[in-house]
Amino acid sequence: MKILVLNSGSSSVKYQVLDMEGEQVLARGIVERIGLAGSRLKHRKGDRELVVEEEIKNHSGAIELILKYLTHPEHGAIKNPEEIDAVGHRVVHGGEKFSGSVLITDEVIESIRECIPLAPLHNPANLAGILAAREKLPGKPMVAVFDTAFHQTMPPHSYMYALPYDLYRERKIRRYGFHGTSHRYVSQRAASLLGTSKEKLKIITAHLGNGASMCAVLGGKSVDTTMGYTPLEGLYMGTRCGDLDPAVPLAIQNQMKLTPPEVDHLLNKRSGMLGVSGISSDMRDLEEAAEKGNQRATLALKMYAYKVKKYIGAYAAAMGGLDVLVFTAGIGENSPLIREWSCEGLEFMGIEIDTEKNREMVRGREGIISKGKVKVMVIPTNEELVIARDTAEIVSSL
Ligand code: AMP
Repeated sequence: MKILVLNSGSSSVKYQVLDMEGEQVLARGIVERIGLAGSRLKHRKGDRELVVEEEIKNHSGAIELILKYLTHPEHGAIKNPEEIDAVGHRVVHGGEKFSGSVLITDEVIESIRECIPLAPLHNPANLAGILAAREKLPGKPMVAVFDTAFHQTMPPHSYMYALPYDLYRERKIRRYGFHGTSHRYVSQRAASLLGTSKEKLKIITAHLGNGASMCAVLGGKSVDTTMGYTPLEGLYMGTRCGDLDPAVPLAIQNQMKLTPPEVDHLLNKRSGMLGVSGISSDMRDLEEAAEKGNQRATLALKMYAYKVKKYIGAYAAAMGGLDVLVFTAGIGENSPLIREWSCEGLEFMGIEIDTEKNREMVRGREGIISKGKVKVMVIPTNEELVIARDTAEIVSSL
């Protein structure tokens, strides 16, 4: 079975075609700057990358171009679009309606549309991708895989905010969590690498990428996660501020005479590692600057690791113990420094990093980096594979 996985953003569409026999990626790529000057497709098959600069007006044009290169006589991975058995779409927000992946029907599309107030930037883009794919691949079964779905098992005491209850009842203001596909994948992978069933484990997963969140996974289910109503809550990230006294945005707004969108921009785009360091939102740049003695870069790194450590403690408490701690995504997979600092001083709870193993675990390697009771692991995330697997499973049962 061949599955096309699509991750549609407002101005980009990432894609992969996987052959589910052996779970091989046949080709992958990205269409960037949709509707903007300089739009292009970057297509990769094996080691060969191709860049095509072309005017791409909308998501429909993007999917058309993707199909053109997927079926290209020289660069393609399939002979014709008919070879695609099904399409899996990443959808950011499924609200309270979706606790798992679903076959896309007109009703599902309507429900995704209803979730737009919860994810005003992401869901419209995801929908545009779904509608364009339906137009270009009519009749193909399609599946929606939601970032929020894995966290729908959080109990109310974990997902509620202490706000007037009507805000939850009438406006659905509560914690949802994101990166669910990644947390689900790495927690399941950890259990399978350890040869234990996930039901028996207390796992903390730390997805530390440009966006970052952690999750408490008890018996295979998410019981808490650091992102909330939006991805702004929790850890602090490349350009997002993370947890904050809720009075701070109000003070900023009043003192600087900013509009709500300007405050939103400040908290989402100008804060985090970029805001603290004044250098960059990229962890590599900060590590380099800190090594050269830059004080603010060092502060940014210390703040980052300290926050991760605080949530390790909090989630071990929430689950009544800890068996496994997993690091994943760009920083989690590649920064021995952040992993080491995040775990420093946690020997009292059985977390002890093996310095040598930790240093070696970079660039896609997978394994255990601890010598204490708690297994600390590095597991490269693979959200596309989860989307493809869910799609194949749902389509097979049709
Ligand atoms: P992602 O969003 O998962 O692609 O992760 C992006 C983040 O991973 C950026 O902050 C990168 O700086 C960081 N990253 C990637 N490679 C490394 C590395 N070798 N060392 C430290 N951070 C890295």
